[in-house]
Amino acid sequence: MNKNLIVPKDIGQAVDILLSGKVCAFATETVYGLGGDATNDDAVLAIYESKNRPRFNPLIVHCADIEMAKTLVDFSPLALELANFWPGPLSLVLPLKKSASISSLVSAGLKTLAVRVPAHPLARELIKKTGKPLAAPSANPSGKLSPTSAKQVIKAFGGKIPVLDGGACEAGLESTIIAIDGEKIVQLRAGALAREDIEKTLNREILIAKKGSAILSPGMLKSHYAPKAKLRLNVNEPTGEGAYLAFGNAQEFAGKMLNLSPNSDIKEAAKNLFAFLHELDEGGTKLIEVAPIPHEGLGEAINDRLLRAVAPKG
Ligand code: AMP
Ligand code: MG
Repeated sequence: MNKNLIVPKDIGQAVDILLSGKVCAFATETVYGLGGDATNDDAVLAIYESKNRPRFNPLIVHCADIEMAKTLVDFSPLALELANFWPGPLSLVLPLKKSASISSLVSAGLKTLAVRVPAHPLARELIKKTGKPLAAPSANPSGKLSPTSAKQVIKAFGGKIPVLDGGACEAGLESTIIAIDGEKIVQLRAGALAREDIEKTLNREILIAKKGSAILSPGMLKSHYAPKAKLRLNVNEPTGEGAYLAFGNAQEFAGKMLNLSPNSDIKEAAKNLFAFLHELDEGGTKLIEVAPIPHEGLGEAINDRLLRAVAPKG
């Protein structure tokens, strides 16, 4: 076993690493995060460097609870309503407080900060024990697939980065990112909390950020989340030239086939998406043909990730 794999009972080791200003990956319910003390410039720099992430792409700060988040950003009444989804896979982009004790590198110089309270018990215990908000982008080199298991993190960084192992990620997709623009609610990134679910609970419409709109996520690069294999989307009848990533009732297929959800359960498909793409990459597949995925609910986020994965690099 890799010496950088930390089991839950040794959580103290992860706390010590973080308090010394170094990075440590940890499990959340979305994907594994590459954590660093958000109040420490060196730690935040180490995150950008380890991931080879452009500095203009700000990080999401993970808090133990809403009280911790309130020390960093201002909550309007509307923001407080959205925060009712915490703990959970929802990141809120809110005005950064002048008094916030946080490295300016985290928000890449913006006047706003993305915050979230994760639902994974081990992640919350880690933040509580560290006593610091933790900046934590996905624990993968920039542009590569997000990891949904500790093993994938170890592999992605050649075993050099310590990982607190919290098992397989429940959601398997990054958080939904929402910004508030006056009375408007804008989705900057589709993610593990379906837009429809937020709309139903709040009984309000959520707008989708468009190219050229006032608020945009600087990091929403077109090409992202890419596996090594070439992807072909919306394939009903696989050619057999590569592997088939099926959804729902799939016909017999002679080649390698993985089914995101034989029962057409979109939540199960979201959980399996990155895990299966990793598995096919590891198997050396050169081409992955993907079945059409419905757009409803979490299908929005799944289709978003697939489109980014086929977008030309650069
Ligand atoms: P990751 O940490 O890799 O899941 O990416 C986090 C994403 O959050 C970034 O790519 C940005 O698009 C978005 N983000 C973080 N902070 C802000 C902010 N202050 N304003 C807008 N988007 C943000
Ligand atoms: Mg990421």
